[in-house]
Amino acid sequence: MRKKIVAGNWKMNTTVPEGIELAKQVVARAAETPANVGLIVATPFTHLASVAEAIKGSKVELAAQNCADHTSGAYTGEVSVAMLKSVGCKWTILGHSERRQYYGETDEKLVVKTQLALAEGIGVILCVGENLDEREAGRHFDVVSAQIKNVLYNFTAEDMKKIVVAYEPVWAIGTGKTATAEQAEEIHACIRKVLADKFGAQVAEDTTILYGGSCKPSNAKELFAQKDIDGGLIGGAALKADDFIGIALSY
Ligand code: PEP
Repeated sequence: MRKKIVAGNWKMNTTVPEGIELAKQVVARAAETPANVGLIVATPFTHLASVAEAIKGSKVELAAQNCADHTSGAYTGEVSVAMLKSVGCKWTILGHSERRQYYGETDEKLVVKTQLALAEGIGVILCVGENLDEREAGRHFDVVSAQIKNVLYNFTAEDMKKIVVAYEPVWAIGTGKTATAEQAEEIHACIRKVLADKFGAQVAEDTTILYGGSCKPSNAKELFAQKDIDGGLIGGAALKADDFIGIALSY
């Protein structure tokens, strides 16, 4: 059985005290969520050590939102995977559309970052997704398949045990426009097929594929009921503990 996950991407929101408070509120309600649903919070770098303390002993796991594409050295402003590991990070998000769009994150860089993360035992939540023009041109299957192949085809079936895919249509992120359950499911099924072509049916079957894009308590149930949707990567709604937990309770 593949793992269900609800992961919150806090993006560049909250001060450290606000983040600690939010983490504590999530922890306070985490036990209400089904045992087979993992909870992850991806905080800004500055918050990681304090949030690690706040979630200690709970089922909530810690993620970063990015990592450096080098191991250490003269890379001013960057944060390495060894640093993430040292503060208790279990995961890093990679390839979020905001990083692809504003910070020149390429599939080539994502291969390197994924290699570095896995080498330190850090799990990767790899984001893929088409923009509005690509969807309107009917290119969404091709765009997402190419993103998966460009990055994940460089890895092994063993590596895939530490990799989660998040399908996030760019036109649905932070816009209030959610992909319909059918639109999301057909892309998730396509991603699973692309994974099966390279790694075989079992690995594809075991890979957790999250949906992200204006997911909230009111639409999570329908999305999560789809057979290839294994949870969500949540942006805005992850900033309110009740909404975040409410989404996890949709299972
Ligand atoms: C995200 O940025 O990962 C995301 C899904 O954002 P939102 O839920 O706000 O659309």
